[in-house]
Amino acid sequence: MVSIPVLYISGREVDLEGVYITISIAAIVTPIICWYLIGLLLEIYRLENEQRELATYDQLTGIMTRRAFLENCETILKIVQRNKQLMSLAYIDIDDFKEINDTCGHEGGDEVLKSFALCLQEHLRESDLLGRIGGEEFVIALVDTNIEQSIFVLDKIRLSTEKNGVSLSNLNLHYTVSIGVVLFDNNNRVDLQELIRQSDSALYKAKKAGKNCIVEYSSS
Ligand code: GH3
Ligand code: MG
Ligand code: MG
Repeated sequence: MVSIPVLYISGREVDLEGVYITISIAAIVTPIICWYLIGLLLEIYRLENEQRELATYDQLTGIMTRRAFLENCETILKIVQRNKQLMSLAYIDIDDFKEINDTCGHEGGDEVLKSFALCLQEHLRESDLLGRIGGEEFVIALVDTNIEQSIFVLDKIRLSTEKNGVSLSNLNLHYTVSIGVVLFDNNNRVDLQELIRQSDSALYKAKKAGKNCIVEYSSS
């Protein structure tokens, strides 16, 4: 029989067997709890990143969501204003997109959106800010770019969709876009909401003018 040593603390006899059992249980359980807590923290971190990613980037096209675009553009606009720079804002809408969905199916429409997003990214500079602001509606903030320079780039985008189109499973679809563009400068120092409203009103004129064109905003 193994005799368990007896320990006296302050004259009191301490049951060492109990101490051994307590320490052993703690030694086994503590790493398990720590491991579980580390796993839990890593999962929270992963979910937070996933949430941030979902809120920032559109799942279909991979470009910024409306919310992320507006947040980032607010900041850019403040910098542009402080540095007394120019900024153009373009509002782009794919023409007759409902018809594209009707003839090519929703998947076909999605392919057009993905292809157009790539086309936009190919034509823009890294300093430009791009967002999908609605179903088939996109916005671009072109920093330090005047109207002439903006229209030059935007027209390349417009021509590219018309000429190259997108390859779908059974056809090569040529589609068009309409664009409204407005300049933010000393003569038009408005907030982002108003700038977007102005570009949208120019887009409306582009649609009324027969689509597949670019219209610059004018207050008249
Ligand atoms: P307009 O030339 O005047 O812009 O006409 P439109 O047909 O492009 O515009 P309308 O607003 O009538 O239709 C837009 C369509 O876009 C309707 C909607 O079902 C479709 N849509 C919105 N989001 C998506 C999407 O993520 N994928 C697909 N495939 N379709 C979408
Ligand atoms: Mg639209
Ligand atoms: Mg449209």
